[in-house]
Amino acid sequence: MVARKIVLSESEIPRQWYNVLADIKMNPPLGPDGNPVSPDMLAPVFPMNLIEQEVSPDRWIDIPEEVLSIYAIWRPSPLVRAVALEKALDTPARIYFKNESVSPPGSHKPNTSVPQVYYNKVFGIERMTTETGAGQWGSALSFACAQFGMECRVYMVRVSFDQKPYRKAMMETWGGKCVASPSTETKAGRDILEKYPDTPGSLGIAISEAIEAAVSDTSGKTRYSLGSVLNHVVLHQTVVGLEAKKQLETIGEYPDVIIGCAGGGSNFGGLAFPFVLDKINGKEIAIYPVEPAACPTLTKAPFVYDHGDTARYTPLLPMHSLGHAFVPPPVHAGGLRYHGMAPTVSQLVNEGILEAKAVTQLDALAAGILLSRTEGIIPAPETTHALATVVEEAKKAKEEGKEKVILFNWSGHGLLDLTAYEKFLADELSNFVLSDKEIEEAEKVFAEFPKPEALKSR
Ligand SMILES: *Cc1c(COP(=O)(O)O)cnc(C)c1O
Repeated sequence: MVARKIVLSESEIPRQWYNVLADIKMNPPLGPDGNPVSPDMLAPVFPMNLIEQEVSPDRWIDIPEEVLSIYAIWRPSPLVRAVALEKALDTPARIYFKNESVSPPGSHKPNTSVPQVYYNKVFGIERMTTETGAGQWGSALSFACAQFGMECRVYMVRVSFDQKPYRKAMMETWGGKCVASPSTETKAGRDILEKYPDTPGSLGIAISEAIEAAVSDTSGKTRYSLGSVLNHVVLHQTVVGLEAKKQLETIGEYPDVIIGCAGGGSNFGGLAFPFVLDKINGKEIAIYPVEPAACPTLTKAPFVYDHGDTARYTPLLPMHSLGHAFVPPPVHAGGLRYHGMAPTVSQLVNEGILEAKAVTQLDALAAGILLSRTEGIIPAPETTHALATVVEEAKKAKEEGKEKVILFNWSGHGLLDLTAYEKFLADELSNFVLSDKEIEEAEKVFAEFPKPEALKSR
């Protein structure tokens, strides 16, 4: 029998995160005056210990003991050989996935919420604010806040708040508070509601609300937390790729193809970056971030400077962006509805080290059904975007008669996203395709901003 799971013991959880900033060239984030932001400008929003991580040039950063002991609730996560999928596709490819759905909130997100809350607590912070798309990040932060005895307030994108009521229940079970965004609690929310009372909301708007709620607390005990995009978030997620590398080594395997879905880029970067280092050093690996065709940040939008949020509170980040005012169509993969992308992932796509792909909602969910019926785990709608690409690669390997090793990130389970499956099975879902005109219109917002340089890391 082929081994189905490769498991490590708790003592084998990586002791350090990998920081890709040590190995690539990046344009700096810019402040309102067009100059690079200094770390102290971010101090009202994030604690200084996390800001230091955000800009650190060190290749390896120690994982604190307190974080490791909470990671051990679900880490090391299993590396699974997708034997049933391989059989169903009759492919010569060997397919492996990191099963990040085994964490208490059901996704990769606590890999960063736990260290983020830890560093805030050490810094003397008592309350966290954040946004959430589909609800996974809000629940991951609520879970982490419960572990450290911190308060948590979550602004949840309206369309998901309505589609996924159980996510709110989950957040509140862990002691967090969940508000639909746009809300009337913040100026950013009220301004949007006045113009667009029926808006489905967006991550860009919810981020504005959460930042405003943090910086307007005069006690100084509240900070904001972001679930993706930023360097320190992707840094924390590299525990996924580092574990996967160890697990593959124990069975003498190395990936030819690496695949992850990309919303803000954190689960993808977390799996891929330890291998990006090998690619920069000469290894041949195809590495694919996969996004929804309805929100085609990497595949259709340019590499520019743009804000991370709609109200323009964040610095200008060098990234692929559809424009900070863009409200993506209400696809079920709420966690992939973001106008921008991690600057690190954007830089690597721009250099050609990563090759981005886009898939439609219907192709993604069809792959989700196939994986549910073979590997058994019902994937999050976000994850199904990676799955569609895995299926395509496995079929290609069959056509070419090649024994490729495919590694992908199973970023979360879909047990609280069953409405998406219910609608798909009832044939009630359709694809959203953006016209070039809509994209051009959305991109007008950054026309006046400075342009990032085309840097080469190798
Ligand atoms: C949030 C989420 C994503 C998208 O976020 P990234 O930062 O791009 O990883 C993907 N999958 C799941 C299950 C999520 O919860």
